[in-house]
Amino acid sequence: MQDESNAGQNALIHVEGLRKSYHAGTQSVSVLNGITLRIERGEFVAIMGASGSGKSTLLNVLGLLDNFGEGEYRLAGQSTRLLGERASARLRNRLIGFVFQSFHLLPQKNAWENVALPLSYRNVSRRIQRKRAHEMLERLSLSHRADHRPNEMSGGQRQRVAIARALVTDPPLVLADEPTGNLDSETSDEVLRLLGGIHAEGRTVVLVTHELDVAHAAQRLIHVRDGLIDSDERLVRA
Ligand code: ADP
Ligand code: MG
Repeated sequence: MQDESNAGQNALIHVEGLRKSYHAGTQSVSVLNGITLRIERGEFVAIMGASGSGKSTLLNVLGLLDNFGEGEYRLAGQSTRLLGERASARLRNRLIGFVFQSFHLLPQKNAWENVALPLSYRNVSRRIQRKRAHEMLERLSLSHRADHRPNEMSGGQRQRVAIARALVTDPPLVLADEPTGNLDSETSDEVLRLLGGIHAEGRTVVLVTHELDVAHAAQRLIHVRDGLIDSDERLVRA
């Protein structure tokens, strides 16, 4: 993994005074109200907060899926403020794997094609895409589902496909927004074990959840309230 940091600016994620509002007609809703946050390489961080507190908005900004109003966000030492759409997409593809609550798989593509998607945005031949996607599916014990479409798989299998897709580019940063929100408790535990393994490989993991026992998979717990950081504590493993 590349180290693009400058001395003294070593954090993988460096957010300062981040603000974001949504506008609809004459209405304006302010969702992020001045978030300042550093996440170092190799951390496993959980973000909790009530529904509507801004967790997904924050994660989408961190994942370069959404822009922000005021403040600064440096990712791996690079300011993201003025990045255009293409540069954003390129940086995201290089550094970030994203896992969502509702999986976000393409229904008309089978499992390996979904996993290969991030590679298809790079200069990777279809043969290599297929090979890498199958290797990832094997790691997640899903080889037997490689040619199945999402609607032929269980929720847990779909989320494992989504995790394979997040990891296929070997990203240093994995962001997960309520990844266990649609899963039963047994399957949730499996997904959390996978996230723990992803962290143990040396990746930085940021996990949004509203369940405390899910958050306890992490080493650090941040509470968000009304678009602000309410608390930020280190978790001690029981
Ligand atoms: P959380 O993930 O913590 O439940 P969100 O970040 O999804 O919270 O939403 C925070 C607030 O922003 C909510 O009040 C929500 O209604 C509002 N919001 C989120 N996305 C949009 C959008 N695209 N347009 C307008 N308002 C939005
Ligand atoms: Mg949310």
